[in-house]
Amino acid sequence: MRSILITGAAGFLGSHLAKDLVSEGQRVIGVDNLSTGKKSNIEDLLNHDNFVFIQADASSPEWLRLDSLSDVGEIYHLASPASPKFYQAAPLETIAINTIGTKHVLELARRTGAKVLYTSTSEAYGDPDVHPQPEHYRGNVNTWGPRACYDEAKRLGEVYCYEYFHRFQVDVKVARLFNTYSAGLRSDDGRVISNLVEQAITGKDLTVYGDGMQTRSFCYADDTIRGLKLMMEKDAASGEIINIGNPSEYTILELAECINQIVGGNCRITFHPLPVDDPKQRRPIIEKAKNLLGWEPVIDLQEGLRRMIQVYRQ
Ligand code: UDP
Repeated sequence: MRSILITGAAGFLGSHLAKDLVSEGQRVIGVDNLSTGKKSNIEDLLNHDNFVFIQADASSPEWLRLDSLSDVGEIYHLASPASPKFYQAAPLETIAINTIGTKHVLELARRTGAKVLYTSTSEAYGDPDVHPQPEHYRGNVNTWGPRACYDEAKRLGEVYCYEYFHRFQVDVKVARLFNTYSAGLRSDDGRVISNLVEQAITGKDLTVYGDGMQTRSFCYADDTIRGLKLMMEKDAASGEIINIGNPSEYTILELAECINQIVGGNCRITFHPLPVDDPKQRRPIIEKAKNLLGWEPVIDLQEGLRRMIQVYRQ
């Protein structure tokens, strides 16, 4: 049995994925520099026979020389800050992990014959002027602004994947993830669901940026993880970019009202300045995922929020 490498294994999605794979009996090597990930996310795994943790920065080359990586058969490259709050606080590190880090991962795959799944982002579409977004839409991204370090680095990460697929026949797949949530998001993560749930549970005002009419489409993490595993498994996903997200679209104001209602609180909604370059709308077309993977999300926003809020209350 060959090992599965996860970069970003102590992060939100990485730790969910690591637990899922280990529970299936897979051998997992988790790499994380603990910049935004937390060791507490993988505490249950640290003493598990089928899990090895390496604290390292995937954008530096040293860790690639480890002998333990020679039997890696699959690589999930998830490492990167993903919340605007964190990637804007560490823009150069965000660029490095998604560009040089992706190149390192692809080189490792070239050496070991491993399959690679790279998690790109719906931010590759920028502030989209095509709605909803199919994979062939090329995006409307600003290179000169506070989101560029994430958006453009992810886009360049995709380019590395393209080149290694075509030049070196590395079996690579690219997932464009739309907003993902569940319990396990850091309480100080700064993204909208984490903020609003935390505020609602503690009886604070719910902070809506702008007029709250901007939209997002939120996918529950279990659905996302299932999509990523299917991408890794299916040959039909090789050399493909596939949207992984939930096509149900909500305004941020609707989201705030929904969270307020589930928590049963009477929190006030307060309005704050809209961040620079905040996309106005976002919703995936997921026909490609349906056709190539047989995948679509099954957990709707209300159900996902109920599950998440239940865990946060405990
Ligand atoms: N947002 C908000 N209140 C918050 C945090 C975020 O209204 O406390 C808005 C943000 O301006 C954006 C949307 O919610 O329009 C989603 O933001 P998030 O940071 O979660 O992710 P993004 O999709 O922008 O990367």
